[in-house]
Amino acid sequence: MRVGVAGAAGRMGATACRAIDGAADMELSGRADPQLGVELAAILPGCDVLVDFTRPDTVLENARAATAAGVHVVIGTTGFDLGELDGLAGANVFAAPNFAIGAVLMMRFAREAAAHMRAAEIVELHHDGKLDAPSGTAALTAALMAQASGRPAPPIHSVRLPGLVAHQEVILGDLGQTLTIRHDSLDRESFMPGLLLAIRRVASLPRTPVIGLEELLFAP
Ligand code: NAP
Repeated sequence: MRVGVAGAAGRMGATACRAIDGAADMELSGRADPQLGVELAAILPGCDVLVDFTRPDTVLENARAATAAGVHVVIGTTGFDLGELDGLAGANVFAAPNFAIGAVLMMRFAREAAAHMRAAEIVELHHDGKLDAPSGTAALTAALMAQASGRPAPPIHSVRLPGLVAHQEVILGDLGQTLTIRHDSLDRESFMPGLLLAIRRVASLPRTPVIGLEELLFAP
C-alpha cells in the first residue's frame, strides 16, 4: 500500500512518516509540506492513501483534492467542521480526532458515566503549539456525553502549556462524590497503532465518511 503524508514536516506528520516507513505492508510514497517545498498535487499520483496532519484551514482542500484523484484519505487534523466531509466523492474518507486507544476508551467510559451522574466538566490540556481550542477530542467527548445524558454538552476548559502533549480529564459530580476519568498521551507514538489501523481499513469502509476510531475498533 502506497501511503503519502500531508503535513509531513510537522510534529504528527513526521511521527506518522516513521511509523508508515516501519510498517511491512506500507510504502511511504510521498511527503508533502510547505516546510519541505513539496505540494500535495505532486505526491497524489503515487498514493493509494493520503494521511493528513496539517491545519484546520487547509485539511478540507487537501481531502477534496485527494478524493477527486481517487486517493483514500485518513484525517487526523482537528478543529474543522467534520460535516464538511459529507459529499466528498471518488474515494473513502476516515477522520478521527484522536487515534490513541486510551482516549477512545476515555470517551466511551465518559459517555457511559454521563448517563448516571448529575453534572460534568471537561478539562483538556495540550502543548502550546496547538492551533484549535477546544480540542476535537474534547468536543467529541462533550457531544457523546450530551447524547447519552439528554442534557446540554458539558463545559470544556482548555489549557495550552509547553511540556504537555495531549491530555484530558472528564470530571463528573453528583451527591457527595466525583468521578474523574483521565487520559494522557505522553508521546506521539501513542497515536500510531490507531493510525496504521485506519490506513489499512480506509479502502474497505462500508460507507464514507466514517468518523472516529471507535467505528473501527468496536463496530460489529
Ligand atoms: P504542526 O506541527 O503544526 O504540523 C502541521 C504541518 O502541516 C506543518 O509543517 C505545516 O506547515 C503543514 N502544512 C500546512 N498546510 C499544508 C498543506 N496544504 N499541505 C501539506 N502540509 C501543510 O501540527 P501537529 O502538532 O503535527 O498537528 C497537526 C494536526 O493533527 C492538528 O490539527 C492536531 O490537532 C492534530 N492531531 C491529531 C491527533 C489525532 O490523534 N487525530 C493527535 C495529535 C494532533 P506550515 O508550518 O508551513 O503551515
